[in-house]
Amino acid sequence: MTEDPRRLLGEAIHGLRTHLEYEVADGISEVEMDPALLDALPATPSAAPPDSRAARTKTPSAQSGAMEEMSSFKAVETLEEIRSDLGECTRCGLCEGRKNIVFGVGNPEADLVIVGEAPGREEDIKAEPFVGRSGQLLNRMLEAIGLSREDIYICNVIKCRPPENRNPTPAEVETCEPFLIRQLKSLRPKVILAMGKFAAQTLLQTEERISRIRGNFHEYHGIPVMPTFHPAYLLRNQSQKRVVWEDLQKVHQVLGLGPLPSSAREGP
Ligand code: URA
Repeated sequence: MTEDPRRLLGEAIHGLRTHLEYEVADGISEVEMDPALLDALPATPSAAPPDSRAARTKTPSAQSGAMEEMSSFKAVETLEEIRSDLGECTRCGLCEGRKNIVFGVGNPEADLVIVGEAPGREEDIKAEPFVGRSGQLLNRMLEAIGLSREDIYICNVIKCRPPENRNPTPAEVETCEPFLIRQLKSLRPKVILAMGKFAAQTLLQTEERISRIRGNFHEYHGIPVMPTFHPAYLLRNQSQKRVVWEDLQKVHQVLGLGPLPSSAREGP
C-alpha cells in the first residue's frame, strides 16, 4: 500500500511544530528559515493528533500563534502563590462538606505531573492526593517505572471531596479548573499523566471516552499528555492493568528515563 503524501507531509509539519514549540520553551526565539519554505506549507495538515487544544491544526501563519501560546504557557506564579490565592475557597458548594482542600503535593520541578479526578475520603482527611487504596496502587505503578512520589507532582482537577465520592458536576469542574491550569503553568512538566475520564476530558477538552483516547499521547499547550485509566477503575477491573502498564511504559520512554528497572519489567 502506498503512503498518502498529504498525511506524510502533515506528520512532518506536526513534528516540526512540536520541535519549534520546545525550542521556544527553552528560550530560543529565532530560527533561520527560508520564507519560500513557509509559503510551500499546506493550509490544513491532516495528521494533528486528536482532541488537543494546542494541537488543533494550524495554518503556517498560525504557527507563530502556536509558539506564542507555548511561550505564554510559562510560570508566572509559584505554587505557593496559587495556593494562597485559592485560600479557604468557597467558590462552589463542595466547600460545605470538605474537611480539607487537597491542593496537590510533590516536586515543583517534576518532569511528570499526575492529574486525578477529586479527593476521596482519605485524601479529604489527610489533605493529600492519592493516599487511599487508589494511591497505594498508583505508588506501585510509579515504582514499576522507577519513580517515587518525591519525583513527581500530583494533583486533581477538583480540590475538594464531592459528597459520597460522587462525580464532580460540570459547574464544579469549571470553577476549579483555573487552579489546575495555573498549577500546570507553574510546573510546566515534560509529561502529564491524566488518570481517568475527568482528568483526560478536562485537560483535552473532549468528551471522548477514556477507553478511546488512552494509550496515545495528546497535547496540552505543547506538553505531551497520556490519558490512562484511573487506579480506582483498575482496582475493580484488574484485567485492565496490562494496558495501563503499556501506557506507563510510553510515559517512561518520553521522560527519557533509560531502561526500565529490571525488578519491574512485568509491571505493577
Ligand atoms: N482519586 C483521585 O482521582 N484523586 C485522589 O486524590 C484520590 C482518589
